[in-house]
Amino acid sequence: MIDVQNRGYHQQHGRMFTAVIPTNVFGMHDNFNIEEGHVLPGLIHKTHLAHKNGSPLVVWGSGKPRRQFIYSLDLARLIIWALREYQEIEPIILSVGEEEEVSIKEAAECIVASMGFKGQVIFDTNKSDGQYKKTANNGKLRTYLPDFQFTPFSQAVKETCDWFVANYHTARK
Ligand code: GDP
Repeated sequence: MIDVQNRGYHQQHGRMFTAVIPTNVFGMHDNFNIEEGHVLPGLIHKTHLAHKNGSPLVVWGSGKPRRQFIYSLDLARLIIWALREYQEIEPIILSVGEEEEVSIKEAAECIVASMGFKGQVIFDTNKSDGQYKKTANNGKLRTYLPDFQFTPFSQAVKETCDWFVANYHTARK
């Protein structure tokens, strides 16, 4: 609807508004609530508790769905670029490439490694997997910014886990 509105403003009033479409965002200051948060902050919180309590980590679903995750700091840099440089009404997808897509299982393994969790990891297939894939093409972004360096996923996950542990008492959870 924002896209429709932006086109309308342009046609009727000659105004230049656009829209950005990020894929799954994660990073510091996220909502780490287990029931309501998205998968990465949810799993980071659950891994922290499992580590503290010596209990297993329960991942919802089979672990097979795949997602493209974007680190909030990378997204912030891209949004500032879009504000300053991007001159189209047409929305732009802000995402890592399709080859960077990871499964929920791989994402959970990355969190487990970052937090040094040594306990058991269980996949609860009574919980739904949701959409299997939502692959987004970042070709347009790449034509504008061929050299933009995304933070490597494992580094971004590690920074987010470290932030959560260091700010456990004040983090949104
Ligand atoms: P979305 O489906 O892309 O909106 O993202 P979600 O963050 O809600 O979940 C993506 C996938 O992660 C789904 O397949 C969930 O079943 C799976 N998942 C595994 N463990 C968790 C968890 O602890 N929290 C959430 N939110 N999703 C989880």
